[in-house]
Amino acid sequence: MNTRTPLLNPLTLPNGAVLKNRLVMAPMTTCTGFYDGTVTSELVEYYRARAGTLGTVIVECCFIDAKGPAFPGAIAIDNDNKIAGLARIADAIKSQGSTAILQIYHGGRMVEPELIGGKTPVGPSAIAAPREGATTPQALTADEVDVMITKFGDAVNRAIKAGFDGVELHGANTYLIQQFYSPNSNQRDDKWGGSRENRARFPLAVLDIAHKMAERIAHNTFIIGYRFSPEEIEVPGIRFADTLYLLEKLAERGLDYVHFSVGQLLRPSIVDTQDPTPLIDKFIAQRSERLAKVPVIGVGGVVNKADAEKGLEHGYDLVAIGKACIAYPDWADRVLNNEHLDLYIDSTQREALMIPEPLWRFSLVDAMIREVSAPGRKYKAGVYQEKVEAEALKLKINVTLDTDRITDISMVPDDTLDVDFTETFESLRNRMLVANSPHVDAITGATTQSEALKKAVSRALSTSSKEYVIEEGGNPAAPQNYDVVVIGSGGAGLAAAIQAHDEGARVVIIEKMPTIGGNTIKASVGMNAAETRFQAMKGIKDSKELFYQETLKGGQNKNNPVLLREFVELAPEAIDWLADHGIELNDITITGGMSIDRTHRPADRSAVGGYLISGLVKNINKRNIEVLLDTSVAEILTENGAVTGVKVVDEYYDSRILYAKSVIVATGGFSANREMVVKYRPELDGFVTTNHKGATGSGIAMLQKLGADTVDMGEIQIHPTVEQTTSYLISESIRGGGAILVSQEGKRFFNEMETRDKVSAQIIALPEKSAWVVFDEQVRANNKAADEYIAKGFVISAPTVGELAVKLNMEHTTLEETLARYNQFVVDQKDEDFGRTTALRHPLNQGPFYAIRVAPGVHHTMGGVTINTDTAVLDSNKQPIRGAWAAGEVVGGIHGANRIGGNAVADIIIFGILAGRNAAALARS
Ligand code: ADP
Repeated sequence: MNTRTPLLNPLTLPNGAVLKNRLVMAPMTTCTGFYDGTVTSELVEYYRARAGTLGTVIVECCFIDAKGPAFPGAIAIDNDNKIAGLARIADAIKSQGSTAILQIYHGGRMVEPELIGGKTPVGPSAIAAPREGATTPQALTADEVDVMITKFGDAVNRAIKAGFDGVELHGANTYLIQQFYSPNSNQRDDKWGGSRENRARFPLAVLDIAHKMAERIAHNTFIIGYRFSPEEIEVPGIRFADTLYLLEKLAERGLDYVHFSVGQLLRPSIVDTQDPTPLIDKFIAQRSERLAKVPVIGVGGVVNKADAEKGLEHGYDLVAIGKACIAYPDWADRVLNNEHLDLYIDSTQREALMIPEPLWRFSLVDAMIREVSAPGRKYKAGVYQEKVEAEALKLKINVTLDTDRITDISMVPDDTLDVDFTETFESLRNRMLVANSPHVDAITGATTQSEALKKAVSRALSTSSKEYVIEEGGNPAAPQNYDVVVIGSGGAGLAAAIQAHDEGARVVIIEKMPTIGGNTIKASVGMNAAETRFQAMKGIKDSKELFYQETLKGGQNKNNPVLLREFVELAPEAIDWLADHGIELNDITITGGMSIDRTHRPADRSAVGGYLISGLVKNINKRNIEVLLDTSVAEILTENGAVTGVKVVDEYYDSRILYAKSVIVATGGFSANREMVVKYRPELDGFVTTNHKGATGSGIAMLQKLGADTVDMGEIQIHPTVEQTTSYLISESIRGGGAILVSQEGKRFFNEMETRDKVSAQIIALPEKSAWVVFDEQVRANNKAADEYIAKGFVISAPTVGELAVKLNMEHTTLEETLARYNQFVVDQKDEDFGRTTALRHPLNQGPFYAIRVAPGVHHTMGGVTINTDTAVLDSNKQPIRGAWAAGEVVGGIHGANRIGGNAVADIIIFGILAGRNAAALARS
């Protein structure tokens, strides 16, 4: 659980009661009371399931008088018989560790006669609510007003007896208390009406009696809160200034909190529609010192952690969560674990989610329910047996499919199996069943086996889907229609597919490799962006202009300035887009060539690639976007110069046509295509590559056939720090975290934070053509990647620098002197030898000490096809090829002669989103 969020700070209310955190379940109508307003068991369990991690639960409004219910199924506190049932709710909430508050109200003129036995409802004046068919209420006489106040007092009395920790007076939603304050519904001419002061009398009297009741029979930390609707749209009606007036008056009499009743936390005025300022901002700016002592609750639209945190940033002390708490009973646990939630409910999950039947039918909830048998790939129901083969593991599985989903995956019993696979199998099986997709994260430590199992399930789906088509009288090899075909499942392809889908397009992703993720999954350091909200939160001052200039300098001024401008401009939005999709890159570091911490990475400082792909794939699964693995695009089809689709070939060499008006080429670079690398840079013959096998540049070749132009094809980046026996890249984040490079002689030889091309050149110039990355325990502790390298056996370590030198076959005094000298530079923040100015983080003086042997490897191909700022592929006359889009490493020009670490991930996400958007727009036009 993330303990750093301010959402977990306790809050002491003015009366001394302590709420354990800032999260509140908003009071929401469930319509689950008995006909007479008594509590049902379903309701008790609904609250029990939701209490616990949330600091406070405010129980839905409870009517105080027989003429009070504003909707069917409302719960009541109108007589003593109701106490026992309410006590069960209070107990259910408190036994889970949350504070239990009960909201009390009277519906007044909002009550329908049929809910009160055909009687006429009451109100401050005989004025009907401004809605069609509203009944004109009977105006309460002065005596009846007094009685009504005592009924609120009785209700508080019963709430105390039922064991609640507090009550919330419902002065909002146009119910009776608000009706008294409103110049619209209250046009009385006695002491309860007329002037604002008179109209405020009723809410104040209700507060007074609540206080009296609490003083008399409750402990002194009994909470009294007040909910208000900040404005009325009617003329006359309550304006925000009126609300402030009332809240000030309430605060004078003492109150433990006030609670906004709005649909959105940051909603601006509904009266002054020209003013975009959120009402909460006005409230904070205009409230008196006294009112400022009363905590304020915000509500509306909170689904994820960032939404709630934004509420606190704007000055709310507490944030109430509504619909998300219905959809996710364990909402708080999930968001505190940084899970990204979408507001929908699986149609089969009502009972599991403890949602009472009447609430399930309530329109608010109904709108969130999503049919899980959504359209998508169809299967022929049955059991499909597949082989799983990975190294020593050889077994068979049965995949049971219904027409639209995986219903089970089981191992075929096999006595000869001597590999212990059960645990991996069970975990992966669960992941696949939950996602209803084979595209899930592999089990840590069992990647090869996981991939083999995923592949077997994928094969079963593919076989069954073909059989379904045959059964329906179709031909599985027949062409199929889509709006958008995405080629490649790296970061660019996945982001593009998600965005295109969300713009309404029917999308398919084609991936030639057996797994998703391309080269992106190997990305290590992070994603660069300037002027982001995460930088702001950390107080890092950055500018897009500086980011632009440094990238241009790093690219030796060869970058396409127009694309680079677009890149820099859109980078913060792309960071937000990822966060909105549950992929938060909120830790920040630095890479070579940059002067400011702007490389965004996961909170746990792990390598960005795995985290990014895992998050994107979750979004793909959620949207049911089809992914065809082991299938490669052999050709992009055109007619009259416009793209019409692609020809694909699957692992059985069966080919098919997929028609689409838009094809997004996100096939990555060509670092793994030795012939192509050597064609453009003969001197790189013999270099290892850090890339995956699929980086062959096929997308460039296919687009060239359509007449696409290319740029910078000879600009190939070698990464300075590659472990040579495995071609594994040692992330720049290690140097960014404070590591240094030393030669076999034990000496530093260059500014480690220079751009990749320069550092590589210096390593190649050393007699051994290799170097050592050296770091200490502090660097290791701050970089998860380091642990990965240790686990992979790349790292040599020793308790002291001298011992490390011995292990590295160096003169120990030389290495000791090198570190001592460097450490002094860190203290002085001045590198007198090589002018390193960044990532002089801390002296390398805490053992154990570590070293990894590295040399350069082919890493990134900056060149590629040309695009415009819409990501449309351009021909040699700089004209767009209709329907051809490209994003990611397949594109040339953005990075110029040298790509800065952290700019590739930015590139794929920024341009991937853009390609998805534009491709969908064209396809659907
Ligand atoms: P980027 O970083 O630009 O997103 P990646 O290298 O991460 O690029 O991903 C590109 C993906 O495209 C790889 O998974 C690669 O296997 C896939 N790919 C390349 N060529 C083809 C092709 N012709 N058909 C299908 N997939 C392809």
